[in-house]
Amino acid sequence: MKTWKELPLGGIIKDVGNTKDYITGTWRTERPVFLEDKCTQCFMCCIVCPDSAVIIKDENVVGFNYDHCKGCGICAVECLSKPKAIEMEKEEQF
Ligand code: SF4
Ligand code: SF4
Repeated sequence: MKTWKELPLGGIIKDVGNTKDYITGTWRTERPVFLEDKCTQCFMCCIVCPDSAVIIKDENVVGFNYDHCKGCGICAVECLSKPKAIEMEKEEQF
């Protein structure tokens, strides 16, 4: 039996900026769906997303990076458009 001193250390970040290497999108049970026609390009979703998973192209929000989006739903709650330009849908639909 191993003693605690022989156990491998956990919680170590070996490389700076390594989050791109982890496909956290596999954690998702719901996904944000972007409704382009309702979006006012306020960029609130970009500010609040904890995973930097909002895709911006040519200075416009165009959707989400589903490799990294964990499906937390913060973007949908904080979206300033009325009606909202982001809807959360069950992951099994996709
Ligand atoms: S659901 Fe969460 S992780 Fe995914 S894009 Fe929205 S704020 Fe980011
Ligand atoms: S928060 Fe909503 S309205 Fe604002 S850029 Fe994002 S999707 Fe568009």
